Amino acid sequence: MKIRVGMGSCGIAAGSLKVRERIVEEIERRGLDLQVQPTGCIGMCHNEPLLDVITGDGRIFTYGHVTPELVGEIFEKHIIGGVPLTQHLVSTSENTNDFLKEQVRVALRNCGEINPECIDDYLDRGGYQALKQALSSTPEEVIQEIRVSGLRGRGGAGFPTWFKWQAVRQNPGSVKYVVCNADEGDPGAFMDRSILEGDPHSVLEGMAIAGYATGAKHGFIYCRAEYPLAVRRLELAIAQARERGLLGRNIFGSGFTFEVAVKEGAGAFVCGEETALIASLEGERGMPRLKPPYPAQYGYWGKPTNINNVETYANVPWIISHGGKAFASMGTEKSKGTKVFALAGKIRRGGLVEVPMGLSLRDVIFNIGGGIKDNRRFKAVQLGGPSGGCIPESLLDIPVDYESINQTGAIMGSGGMVVMDDTTCMVDVARFFLDFTQKESCGKCVQCRIGTRRMLEILERICTGEGRPGDEELLEEIAIQVKEGSLCGLGQSAPNPVLTTLRYFREEYTAHINDKN
Ligand code: SF4
Repeated sequence: MKIRVGMGSCGIAAGSLKVRERIVEEIERRGLDLQVQPTGCIGMCHNEPLLDVITGDGRIFTYGHVTPELVGEIFEKHIIGGVPLTQHLVSTSENTNDFLKEQVRVALRNCGEINPECIDDYLDRGGYQALKQALSSTPEEVIQEIRVSGLRGRGGAGFPTWFKWQAVRQNPGSVKYVVCNADEGDPGAFMDRSILEGDPHSVLEGMAIAGYATGAKHGFIYCRAEYPLAVRRLELAIAQARERGLLGRNIFGSGFTFEVAVKEGAGAFVCGEETALIASLEGERGMPRLKPPYPAQYGYWGKPTNINNVETYANVPWIISHGGKAFASMGTEKSKGTKVFALAGKIRRGGLVEVPMGLSLRDVIFNIGGGIKDNRRFKAVQLGGPSGGCIPESLLDIPVDYESINQTGAIMGSGGMVVMDDTTCMVDVARFFLDFTQKESCGKCVQCRIGTRRMLEILERICTGEGRPGDEELLEEIAIQVKEGSLCGLGQSAPNPVLTTLRYFREEYTAHINDKN
């Protein structure tokens, strides 16, 4: 028998440290020979703290909202007495709950299952075998497998991963780099943090495979400093992998050398943009640079550099182990595989979900997420963070894939889904997101720096009852200028929340303005 405790940031915030202390006390007091395994987030953040009792025959009983007091009862009745406390169970391996049963876990395959601080747990589940397999193929074969999988960058842009890898491989030079963009900064997004906290080795292994395929010997993980647990687990994972010879020189006796280092960001949202990220890595102020040249040609210190995000790398070992075709068999024609979403806001079952591309937004929000909290009505879902847009109820049946989401005016982004109910003011939502991007603008471009400022002023006056007739049109006019005149994705997409709320909820703007005028 084994006990697992959710020790991701969500579990710890909900009190799992005290729960674990209490478990250890009970084991010592009762003199039991029982293993306690800390684990990352399995996705059910709404039920934290979580405690799994895993029986000798492999059955799993998951308890939710566990308190230190409940631990004593679980020991007394279930662990000693053999009778589960059914009223406190949120899922079992024999009766998986609605939140988990529609999910297909590829990037999240180990999250909530293994101890992220123990490399042996990762190895026991086939960890680093994909790297071994890749090293027995040619780099071109590895790139081809990624091409067959149809994997597209999960950071937001959805660019084909194989194409980036091939570009880096084909660009001349003996020094190349791979970079993991872990600068997750969207309000409401926590996909990357959960993967790094729950399964850091999958990202390291994905990066090592990318290094081999592209010809890079060095990798960097650019992780936001606001994720201290992710940084600590990554550094531990790197040290353990190095100790086992899975990073460093001559990996698996193949002659391939790969080293990884973690670089903590300083909290600038714009550093999620790849050229700003490179500038920051080089010790410069994180400001986007003109493209072309693209990082694949002229990246870190002018060398060919491959940049993918956390989820993209976490998918890679699975693709190599299972084959590109297996990945491509999930999803839609142009958006293959699965996608991780962070469900937040006014949703009953908030947390992390991974589903095949093409599932409808309604399925994700209602079947998996359980619908709207407090029996309120659904109003909109903000997809893609501050660069994304608000999708109304009439579009809930669209499939979640890159193309369909783009048609709504929103973007897939990295996977943040903030659900809003009928008490939400959509003008205020637009103001909130624009306030965010305005503050995060690096100031390089006039349209982004000043255009977003002017847009924010208009939104603020509408929200405070000072709106003027024609403000909606003025917002649209400035939005076009900001989109067209901005250098990087931050400015180009900053007006999206305003434009989508104007497109789908224009009457709210008009009502605000008319109420005053
Ligand atoms: Fe900076 Fe905005 Fe220009 Fe991007 S668009 S470079 S964030 S000023």
